[in-house]
Order: sequence, then C-alpha cells, then structure tokens
Amino acid sequence: MNYKQQLEVVQGLFIPPDTAMRLDCPFCNGKNTLSVDTMNNSIKWHCFHASCSAKGKYQGEKDMDYVNATFKKKEESPDIKFIVPDSFKILDSNSKAKKYIHKNNCWEAWAWGRADIKYDVKQDRVVFMIRHEDKAHEFVGAVGRALNSTTYPKWYMYGNKDVPFKCGLPEHKEAIIVEDCASACAVSNILTGVAILGTSLKESHKQYLKQYDKIYVGLDRDATKKSYGIANELKSYGLQNIYVKPLSDDLKYFNTKEIKEIFNGGENEKR
Ligand SMILES: [Zn+2]
Repeated sequence: MNYKQQLEVVQGLFIPPDTAMRLDCPFCNGKNTLSVDTMNNSIKWHCFHASCSAKGKYQGEKDMDYVNATFKKKEESPDIKFIVPDSFKILDSNSKAKKYIHKNNCWEAWAWGRADIKYDVKQDRVVFMIRHEDKAHEFVGAVGRALNSTTYPKWYMYGNKDVPFKCGLPEHKEAIIVEDCASACAVSNILTGVAILGTSLKESHKQYLKQYDKIYVGLDRDATKKSYGIANELKSYGLQNIYVKPLSDDLKYFNTKEIKEIFNGGENEKR
C-alpha cells in the first residue's frame, strides 16, 4: 500500500485530535502493533511489526491551537484556568472507573472529598483532577488512567503539566513521593501523597514539598535507584528529613489500615 492509501485507512479510523494510542494494525492484522498519534493537528502512524510497512505522517493545516501549543508553551503558568472538557463525567457514570478506584484504594479519598475523580467518556479514562493551589473549586489540569489495554499512553496528562497531583489533608506534616495518582490517594488518610508520574522531579514538586517536616520517597521496588536519586536531589535542594521507604508492592494495593502499619513502625532509611 502506498502512502496515500495508508493515509486514507488511518484517517478512516477517526481517531480524535490530540490522542496517542495503540491499536490492532489494519495493514498486517498485528495485535495492538499500530501506534497512532494525532498531536498538533497531524497524524503520525507506525506499526511495530517488523514485516509491516505501515508508517507515515500527515500534517494538517496549522491552526491557532497548533500555533499556541508550539510557540506559547513557555508562558504556561499555574494560573491559566483549565477548562474541564465536556467529556469528563461523574465517576458514577461508569462501572469500570468505579471498579478501578475500588481496586486501587482510591475510594476512600474520593468519598471523603480528598480527591476529585471523574470519568472521561471520550478517552475511556478514570481522571484525577488537579486542584488549584488556592482556589479550592478550580482545577489546573488532570491526569487520566486508561481503563483498557488498547488505550495509549497508560497515563495521560490534561492541561497544565507542571503542577503535581497530590492528595492529603491540610494538617499533614508528612508527605510521600509516589509513582502515580492512585498511590497518592491510597496513602492520603495518613500522609500526603505526591505523584510524579514517571517523570523526574520538577521545580514545582520541590517548591510544594518545602512545607513538610518529613518527606518519604516511595517508588516501586523496580525504581529503587531512582528513589535514591530523588532523595539526594531533595537533600541538595535544602530539604531535611528525607527517607527512602522500601516497599514490598505499589502503595495503591494497600488499604488505609495497612498504610498506617507501614508508616508507624516499619523500616526507613534516612538520607
Ligand atoms: Zn502492521
């Protein structure tokens, strides 16, 4: 198939704008091997199957959204208001989303209002809303977790990408850096969880963490080296009482009672 034919097939998939996803390849029938990306009003496609020639890029007309996204990135500030998309529905509207928050110990944080969690019907994601620092009822962005294995990427960030997702109570004196939003919710009755979502530590994370007396780093067991790196970075930033928390599993798999046991007693390694 030549480029033009491929483009027609990919356009015929009607993938919404600003989406990156994986799906079954219509050219070689490979299972979940086709990656399609529709960022910045373009379509890029690529099949991971070695013998498949599906690959191409089409740049659509560069509209104002594209210009803004490309040239105005630096002006992004935490004060830019995030317009909550119409596709964000209440959590109760989707049973898979509700099941996800039950299974990953976010239910309590949601029920007690420590976290705002919604369902994005367009991208089929459970969405963790990021609140404005000062204005309690405004949001600056959101983080969506895919609810099916064909949606890519697994975690998707909407709106401002510089403000971390955190979940806790105003009286908390302790915080923990965790891998994802669900883990941040799971710990939030005991201490404040701050999700880094696979990225490195940003200036905004460090600023935010200044207010805590004690900071844990609690990433997956696979990420031990990264945990120590982050702990050292926080120390050289001038923060005190940094501990790497050895974990047997992701914090989202523990309920509040178990989290309490992990943090009262249990071993810590002071940095
Ligand atoms: Zn293919």
